Amino acid sequence: MDTITVVGSGVMGKGIAYTCAVSGFKVYLNDINQEIIDKAKNDIYSLLEGSLQKGFISEEQYGKAKDRLYFETDLETAAKNADLVIEAVLEKIELKIDIFKKLDRICSPETILATNTSTMSPTEIGAQTSRPDKVVAMHFFNPVHKMKLIEIIRGLETSDDTVRMVKKAGEKLKKETVEVNEFPGFVTSRMNCLIGNEAMNMLMEGVASAEDIDKALKLGLNHPMGPLALADLVGLDTRLRNMEYLYQTLGEKYRPCPLLIKYVKAGRLGKKSGSGFYQY
Ligand code: NAD
Repeated sequence: MDTITVVGSGVMGKGIAYTCAVSGFKVYLNDINQEIIDKAKNDIYSLLEGSLQKGFISEEQYGKAKDRLYFETDLETAAKNADLVIEAVLEKIELKIDIFKKLDRICSPETILATNTSTMSPTEIGAQTSRPDKVVAMHFFNPVHKMKLIEIIRGLETSDDTVRMVKKAGEKLKKETVEVNEFPGFVTSRMNCLIGNEAMNMLMEGVASAEDIDKALKLGLNHPMGPLALADLVGLDTRLRNMEYLYQTLGEKYRPCPLLIKYVKAGRLGKKSGSGFYQY
């Protein structure tokens, strides 16, 4: 496996593209317009420079990663030579299905099509393609270059060979993997969304300040990061979409906190917009 195409250059797409390039893959990063893709290019180059200065990557890795990265607004050009495509667009099932249908036409029949969805069904997405055995979820974590895990979610028709191939790609990315049989929210989002939502409910009820809720979970329960700071990092719009999907599929206990809904309506989307539960 040599060439990876990443579709969607937001919070996750940029991180996945960076990590793949630094690990030796040729990478095409795709998004809908030039302005967005130019911003992604700047952000990835800054991350590469920061990593070089801090000694996380060598001069050689830096130069090679830059040479291996292509930024492309045309999906066909970006994906036609890919061995693996990783989709990281918004958490909307219709959008993901539309992209997978296009990828199914564009890519070689051998290409594996993976989604970075946090909650949704690779079975449902794969069923819309002619290759459900080659559709799988590869759930990366934010920030991708620091987080060790990829959760690999096997859809109903995903083949053993596909799982083996994406695990091998994970090894080359120097990540650990866990294999999960498809269920809404998998292991991590199912747990994380519940904790985050409860923290938001406590904030709304006036139980404690955002700072103290996060401090309590960090120092009392040994979480490396507080759930409200983590939601800000994820993006509150993305978290709300995750909650809405889990509420639809798993029921009442995933009802999104009204405070989260209000923040998203106000355009407080977390770190990426400059304010969420905290100011940035
Ligand atoms: P984001 O909003 O930061 O980025 C989404 C990107 O997709 C945008 O740049 C947008 O322009 C692009 N896009 C939209 N339509 C497109 C199309 N038709 N073709 C190409 N690009 C298109 O979102 P994100 O936070 O990066 O999340 C992406 C996916 O990753 C979601 O499924 C999300 O649930 C999942 N995820 C997010 C996190 C996180 O912490 N943010 C963690 C794990 C998984």
